[in-house]
Amino acid sequence: MLSARTTVAFPRIAAFLPAILEALAAHDMPVTPQDGTFVAASPFGEALLTPGREHLGIHIRAATGPELNRVRHAVTGLIGFVAKSEALRIVWEGDEVGPTFPPDLRILTVRNIQAITPRMRRIVFEGEDLARFETSDQIHTRLLFQPEDVTIPEWPMLDDAGLIVWPGGAQRLGSRVYTIRRVDAPKGLLWIDFFDHGGSGPGARWLRRAVPGDVVGALGPAAHGPKPARRILLVGDETGLPGIARILEDAPDDMEGLALVIVADESERQLLRMPKGVEIRWLLRASPTLASEQKPLSAAVRALDWSVDQRDLFVWVGCEFHDFRAIRHFLRDEAKLPASQIVAFSHWRRGMSEEDIIAIGGDAVAA
Ligand SMILES: Cc1cc2nc3c(=O)[nH]c(=O)nc-3n(C[C@H](O)[C@H](O)[C@H](O)COP(=O)(O)OP(=O)(O)OC[C@H]3O[C@@H](n4cnc5c(N)ncnc54)[C@H](O)[C@@H]3O)c2cc1C
Repeated sequence: MLSARTTVAFPRIAAFLPAILEALAAHDMPVTPQDGTFVAASPFGEALLTPGREHLGIHIRAATGPELNRVRHAVTGLIGFVAKSEALRIVWEGDEVGPTFPPDLRILTVRNIQAITPRMRRIVFEGEDLARFETSDQIHTRLLFQPEDVTIPEWPMLDDAGLIVWPGGAQRLGSRVYTIRRVDAPKGLLWIDFFDHGGSGPGARWLRRAVPGDVVGALGPAAHGPKPARRILLVGDETGLPGIARILEDAPDDMEGLALVIVADESERQLLRMPKGVEIRWLLRASPTLASEQKPLSAAVRALDWSVDQRDLFVWVGCEFHDFRAIRHFLRDEAKLPASQIVAFSHWRRGMSEEDIIAIGGDAVAA
């Protein structure tokens, strides 16, 4: 077993601890309190967080070097993100294993590309060792895009500071998060549905130039998929639709519920396989009733009947930030649904690239 430790000077640890623990849990590191220490377990190893009055002690353990660096990276990255305003200095002592290939990185090759609506493209990728993506609980992956003219791809490495070392200069990668629409590990195939939103970020640019044979990196999987429930409410825009489609395809036959999906117009509707007891309601942005609505999904969620008993309901949300925030607020504070019945993600933010969102750090959630 390899291990490393750090004691981070952290005057406002008390204020940040809940958000740090929540971020760890949301990133596949569920946390268990144990005598003043919080044990965060990941598929790669574990991190023990011991808060003091003005510091945070962290001890990480893993079986192999790549796994130790993966845990180190998760902890350093998440704490750095949540407590960006604190400019923390995290210096590790203990086992050093040098730069390692991330154990959760797979290289995928585009096999074919199919237009499923005018703006939605399904890409089937081929790859080796995809079993780790075959879980219904973790349905998202971070894709890494090579620059346009690169002939010999370079991939990120994890170093002993827990930092991810990205290829620089002309080899600089773009990266964005997508939903794994389907995966067949024995056949080495993985499907992703890409929405061409018309912008010029690295994801959209890569999508428009993608041809069979191109390679991408795929990190993960991450983030929560659906939880077992008798009734579901699924809410999303084009970026949430791949997740909704996957959840409905995998749902048991006796599942009941509703999917609220917003797309541009009739041409973006898709035929989805789903249990008989689930209704899908397509909201069309082009329709006169929605044209001026800033948070159309939130308005649709509010308009549902919330007076009935909701104990058997699970809600999954994936959409634009403002709609996401309004829906989460409504579900928690007005509909009084416990957090255990909700999985909600902001998938993008109007007018901001992912880099812009990262630059404002934890403030993005409160903004
Ligand atoms: C957990 C998760 C799962 C996701 N799953 C999918 C998926 O399966 N398929 C998919 O296509 N996307 C998915 N997304 C959304 C995708 O990551 C974002 O849309 C991302 O911003 C695209 O990156 P980009 O480089 O094209 O644009 P960025 O560089 O991030 O943004 C550039 C500009 O485009 C705008 N923009 C970004 N996305 C949209 C959009 N959807 N509509 C309109 N304007 C937009 C931004 O506001 C910004 O102004 C998911 C996101 C998350 C967090």
